[in-house]
Amino acid sequence: MNPNYPTKRPTDDAYLHDEEEPRLPTELLNMPWIDGHNHAHTLSWDDRERYALSGCEGMVMVSSGYHWTPYKPVRASDVRFLWDDAVNRRAAIERNHFFRARLGLGIHTGVRIEDPDELLEAMDGYCQLPEVVAVGETGVTPSQHVEAWGLDEQRAIVQAQMELATQHDLPVILHTPNTSSSSGRSYRPAFGVPGYEKNYGLGQEPVITGENPALKAVKIDIEAAHDAGLPEDRVVASHADQNNIQYLMKETECYLSFTIGHSWLIGVGPADVADAIDEYGPERIMIDTDCANILKTDPYAIKRAMFELYRYGIDTDAIRKVVWENPRDVYGFSN
Ligand SMILES: [Zn+2]
Repeated sequence: MNPNYPTKRPTDDAYLHDEEEPRLPTELLNMPWIDGHNHAHTLSWDDRERYALSGCEGMVMVSSGYHWTPYKPVRASDVRFLWDDAVNRRAAIERNHFFRARLGLGIHTGVRIEDPDELLEAMDGYCQLPEVVAVGETGVTPSQHVEAWGLDEQRAIVQAQMELATQHDLPVILHTPNTSSSSGRSYRPAFGVPGYEKNYGLGQEPVITGENPALKAVKIDIEAAHDAGLPEDRVVASHADQNNIQYLMKETECYLSFTIGHSWLIGVGPADVADAIDEYGPERIMIDTDCANILKTDPYAIKRAMFELYRYGIDTDAIRKVVWENPRDVYGFSN
């Protein structure tokens, strides 16, 4: 104990004095990061400012979600409107917040689209835009909203998008279905899950069945990538969870992106990311927020996770690789 402390009686500090002080990872305070999957164009101005305030240097704003098309089933023109809205607003978002906002455009199979070929034809032109840095999010889904969509048709739409990605040398953001849930109880069916604007009662019977439909869906997507000539390392599997980590890391070369902006919903957080880095290294791991206006989401999630990863024992070089270098290289932010 240091006898020179002027406090009336010893405080913690008098005892701590003998201990070696931990090195503070101050480099994390200003480390740049990129959110490789969000829907920030649907958020408020203030939420986008939160990204900038916490050091975000770039993001991929994904426009593909059926959540934002009001009519069901969806027509090609409805999705086209979503793409055009994102294209229209992107530059103003960059000028307002100074981070680089790039786009991911895709056809989501969460709701049936009546005339998808029309959309695929148009997509080729969008893929040539310099601001479009990814195709997606897409990927076969076990069940749809309002009206089921057959698995063969879904797979064809996913593969066709992967073929376009191959032609344009773009990565594909894969929407992998989640199995994890943070709560042991379910809510009254009439009200669904608070924090997620969705009429749960309109969910349809699954078109992928069997023991593990969520993993089966991912395996079908990877097969589609092979058939499309898309290299596995051009696939970013978003919404990674305990159900698909092992398959994706051990049996494929895909990138794994942990969605941590709504951990309360899918039960995946920084501890899962830390475990995956320990087990597989940081080379093929990323973090995204999936922040969107239809969900209770946190624009600070990546910044918070950077601190949390360090607390969990991950070194700052590995953190930089996961939140900055990997998304920068895969989505071409250095160009
Ligand atoms: Zn998303």
